[in-house]
Amino acid sequence: MSMKHNFSAGPSILPQEAIDASIEGIKNFAGTGLSVLEVSHRGKEFVSVVEDTQATIKSLMNIPEGYDILFLGGGASLQFLMVAYNLLETKAAYLKTGVWAANAVKEAKHLGLVEVVASSEDTNYNYIPKDYIIPTDADYFHCTSNNTIYGSQMQSFPNSPVTMVCDMSSDILSRQVDVSKFGLIYAGAQKNMGPAGVTVVIVRKDILGKVSRKIPSMLDYKLHIEKETMFNTPPVFPIFAMLQNLKWVQKVGGVNEMQKRAAARAELLYNEIDNNPLFSGTIAKEDRSQMNACFVLNDASLEEKFNAAWKEAGISGIKGHRSAGGYRASIYNALPLESVEALVNVMRTFN
Ligand SMILES: *Cc1c(COP(=O)(O)O)cnc(C)c1O
Repeated sequence: MSMKHNFSAGPSILPQEAIDASIEGIKNFAGTGLSVLEVSHRGKEFVSVVEDTQATIKSLMNIPEGYDILFLGGGASLQFLMVAYNLLETKAAYLKTGVWAANAVKEAKHLGLVEVVASSEDTNYNYIPKDYIIPTDADYFHCTSNNTIYGSQMQSFPNSPVTMVCDMSSDILSRQVDVSKFGLIYAGAQKNMGPAGVTVVIVRKDILGKVSRKIPSMLDYKLHIEKETMFNTPPVFPIFAMLQNLKWVQKVGGVNEMQKRAAARAELLYNEIDNNPLFSGTIAKEDRSQMNACFVLNDASLEEKFNAAWKEAGISGIKGHRSAGGYRASIYNALPLESVEALVNVMRTFN
């Protein structure tokens, strides 16, 4: 359909195959002759979509026994609050590596004591702090695997002495992760998993039920688990479309293949950023994200000309986030290497 090179940060590029299969489901869902938009979420066809989506995520991410997968509304931002509601009794530890991490801290503070174990805020979040100590008396430790706005990424995860919770919104399914290290993982779907409107929560049941506060129904993970993620109407279409994307990931080779492709895209782009005297990367090299590459033009007066050049090449979505400035090329799972080649070509030939 579109000839664009889509570098949008989120909602973001999906494989054409997943879009086509989603359109087909809107027209005729699972051979019912009805649209997926107009059938009951409790009908057997849609229940099977939910089960299939859970099973596919389990298999793609190698999720061990003991974890449940929920499909909730409210975005990753609601998880900032839900995590604390369900897990924070007295004190929680947070690693503050960006705007989203800071928002998570802010929400948790409504419910208890928050200890920020380390922060890179004073240098505009341009690196991932590494020498921090997670207090053993914290109820949990929260981190953000990929800092979508500034373009840094945790290259490894600590061995947390307490339950580890991670916001993986912008790099889930892009690399192998040992899920058993985490008590809870959440991700807004609109970066690497599917369209906006559904948030995936992967939670180990045994961490729940330990806080003394009363939890309102809609915020209660246990209740959502008990009701098999259908306590209320789930985001039916976003789940359906997400499944089409997951099937694509599976078909082309799973997370291993996604990891290889991510490395190839990132290498090509960062090489150009590093070798082209007109541009500079903004993040400490060892912490650079394989999903969001942030850079600036060294001579800001060239911006207008550069903007015209990439637009001319059919590129969209590389303007930096309003709180970071510069440029951000989001190079998510579904982005073909050819799109990165197109951008690199513009950077190389432009001056
Ligand atoms: C996009 C993003 C969010 C916000 O997600 P919403 O679904 O808009 O609430 C949170 N965390 C990270 C890491 C993100 O990339």
